[in-house]
Amino acid sequence: MAQDLFQSPDYLLVDELLTEEHKLIRETVRQWVKKEISPLIEASCQQAEFPKQVIRGLADTGCFGPFIPPKYGGAGMDDIAYGLMMQELERGDSGIRSTASVQGSLVMFPIFRFGTEEQKQRFLPRLATGDLMGCFGLTEPDHGSDPGGMETRFEDKGDYLLLQGAKMWISNAPFADVAIVWAKDEQGTVRGLIVERGMDGFSTVETKRKWSLRASATGELVFDQVHVPRENLLPEAEGLRAALSCLDSARYGIAWGAIGAAMDCYDTALRYAKERSQFGRPIASFQLQQKKLAEMITEITKAQLMNWRLGVLKTEGRASAAMISMAKRNACQTALSIARDSRQILGAMGITGEYPIMRHMMNLESVVTYEGTHDIHLLITGQDITGISAFK
Ligand SMILES: Cc1cc2nc3c(=O)[nH]c(=O)nc-3n(C[C@H](O)[C@H](O)[C@H](O)COP(=O)(O)OP(=O)(O)OC[C@H]3O[C@@H](n4cnc5c(N)ncnc54)[C@H](O)[C@@H]3O)c2cc1C
Repeated sequence: MAQDLFQSPDYLLVDELLTEEHKLIRETVRQWVKKEISPLIEASCQQAEFPKQVIRGLADTGCFGPFIPPKYGGAGMDDIAYGLMMQELERGDSGIRSTASVQGSLVMFPIFRFGTEEQKQRFLPRLATGDLMGCFGLTEPDHGSDPGGMETRFEDKGDYLLLQGAKMWISNAPFADVAIVWAKDEQGTVRGLIVERGMDGFSTVETKRKWSLRASATGELVFDQVHVPRENLLPEAEGLRAALSCLDSARYGIAWGAIGAAMDCYDTALRYAKERSQFGRPIASFQLQQKKLAEMITEITKAQLMNWRLGVLKTEGRASAAMISMAKRNACQTALSIARDSRQILGAMGITGEYPIMRHMMNLESVVTYEGTHDIHLLITGQDITGISAFK
């Protein structure tokens, strides 16, 4: 990729709503992404390989579970700080942000929220340093938007739980040391378990030939009569609601992250439009290109304000699942549309790895789908405002 010249757009001076600490955190992650992610990300995507060498840096910049209290290895940061970190990571690449989101929101969060003190002490500090990496298994081959239909089950055998089933489309699965797995008990209640690599009958298979999130490793989790020690059951995780609360935390990060990708596309397209001339004039001087750029910065600004407000509400404990759902949907849709328009502004150059736009655009096809599709999030808002569920 050409040199990373990113300059963050801030049309309505949203920075003035941030604290000095927020800005410092953002700058730290931004500089780290410029130094460590931008130079390697194009090759990682072309080769469809997660760059494992960045794990240590992600941990050192505090991107793994920054909201977890310091006594468990986190930094005890607020939700806006978390959002800004995800924005900067996804400005680099959605796959890198996905790894951090899964580790923080989908692995550390459930252990912190639903685990025993012993589980917290055993897993959280090593997850924060990246010495252990985790994944989150909810989706199954036959149950995506409707995870409540899951078929993965376990039987209580006294000392251990006998786990049987399979999960699909699991980020970080190919290299994860631990998996937070959602499975039904004998009564049909969804429970959360910590499954560890090395347990007999537990295997992970990498999903190949993706055209999206190529720098993120995705795979299946297969449980063939796995004996999970009883102490690996998350005692407080009971019912699908527990799994969905983890998704709330991750979706919140995605809302910020997707706008990071949009900001990168816009910034690239704006610079290119000013530098590239056709018919003896910069293409930025043509009305049709200005229209695209003007609409992009408008949508980015609206989403930045929505994210900031949501962050305030979340920090105060007042952000509902439906509010988070709206922000996730809006950010993904906005980012995808901006990536497509930016790609057009770059003409043929837009399809190359010289610029980040096509990579962002392909990544965002996953981001708009995972953690609830665009349709499902529309229906969540519909249900919230009408009181009537149209999807179940
Ligand atoms: C790269 C990647 C990484 C992922 N990582 C993880 C992970 O780490 N952990 C995990 O558990 N999962 C993960 N997922 C899975 C993801 O969450 C699911 O793909 C997503 O929830 C959608 O499920 P599905 O793909 O089975 O689509 P389906 O549920 O089969 O939906 C197909 C289409 O039907 C529509 N649809 C479904 N139901 C309705 C309805 N009631 N009304 C209207 N339309 C409907 C959907 O909107 C969609 O357009 C990942 C997916 C991808 C692509």
